Amino acid sequence: MAKLRIEIDNDLCNGDGLCVDNCPGKGLGLKEGKAVVVDGERCGECYYCESICPTGAIHVYKEE
Ligand code: SF4
Repeated sequence: MAKLRIEIDNDLCNGDGLCVDNCPGKGLGLKEGKAVVVDGERCGECYYCESICPTGAIHVYKEE
């Protein structure tokens, strides 16, 4: 099974929480005003966080 890696660039994140509010698996959160992965196991691979982020701070990778 492919493993997923979610990378969040702290410098690009503006803390708007769009990814957090819209993650269907509730796998993301905010910590000190920046998006963080709370539980990667909850990720359902929808790539929504990556596409909704206005600053391009999130990238979701699949590792074979
Ligand atoms: S890819 Fe989808 S399920 Fe996974 S962390 Fe992003 S918004 Fe949540």
